[in-house]
Amino acid sequence: GAKAAGRNTVLVFESSMYQAVRKRFRIERELREAIRQKQFELYFQPQVDDHHQISSWEVLIRWNHPQQGVVSPMEFISIAEETGQIIPIGDWVLDKTCEILGQCERAGKPVALSANISARQFKDTQFVGNLKKHIRHHQIDANNLTLEMTESLLIEDATATAETMHELAKLGINFSIDDFGTGYSNLKYLRQLPLKELKIDKSFIQNICENNNDAAVVKTMLSLAAHLNLYVVAEGVEEKRQSQFLNKLAKIKMQGYLFGKPIPTSIFLNQWLQNYNKLRDVP
Ligand code: C2E
Ligand code: MG
Ligand code: MG
Ligand code: MG
Repeated sequence: GAKAAGRNTVLVFESSMYQAVRKRFRIERELREAIRQKQFELYFQPQVDDHHQISSWEVLIRWNHPQQGVVSPMEFISIAEETGQIIPIGDWVLDKTCEILGQCERAGKPVALSANISARQFKDTQFVGNLKKHIRHHQIDANNLTLEMTESLLIEDATATAETMHELAKLGINFSIDDFGTGYSNLKYLRQLPLKELKIDKSFIQNICENNNDAAVVKTMLSLAAHLNLYVVAEGVEEKRQSQFLNKLAKIKMQGYLFGKPIPTSIFLNQWLQNYNKLRDVP
């Protein structure tokens, strides 16, 4: 009867909640080992200009789990943010990113890379010092490095965040707002930050060809970006018709499976160092 069904529902709910809690603690415990053993790897996804030439790459972390294989950041980044493990993980990402930037520069094939930064990582007292250390150690041109930050990070502790951004911008580091449109940006405040670009969240791109509301929102973001003098990257471009639609609206950069999925470091390096002229110089 209804009573039994209700009781079963509660049991199912409790057991799935219990499983979720158990999984969370398992990941937290295994991340401790992953950090010690450096079980992470950087993947690279191209960002193309309006001529569909690669102009930069986004750096995306993967966890090479000893039993489970490649684990997506969606599975562990939010847990690492809650536990603070994002601080050593994020520092490893920036160290590796700077190492790759240095390697490409010294091969005479400079590359522009964008790395994702969590709020907790950016606010850590060691963040600026450690980043400067990586830049010095790998002797890189900081102009080739972009930090992707979310709108929420820019709004919390706005004054301190702006100060840190200005300090890093003086070194040449660029800033990008990730997942733009999904947060609550204070537009007046955005103007005061040393931003280079905004990345339109993929949720607005997905149905852009058939959903007039999404198209209208994207047009508004493009006009905002133009007024604020910001470059734009459209995320999650999967289909040719989406890129054609976007190309008609404005000169923007695009990123998505249409142009390439994220690839492991070794493949990225081979491709970039061997096909540099083809990827970069052909109009
Ligand atoms: P994000 O920064 O917004 O990165 C874009 C995500 O969209 C990536 O997922 C990418 O693989 C995926 N993507 C790219 N093109 C397409 C497409 O055409 N269609 C669809 N459906 N998806 C596409 P990924 O690699 O799983 O990363 C997820 C999120 O994890 C990232 O979102 C970012 O917020 C976070 N993340 C990744 N690496 C790092 C990191 O090193 N540090 C921090 N703090 N967060 C990271
Ligand atoms: Mg990103
Ligand atoms: Mg994004
Ligand atoms: Mg996203």
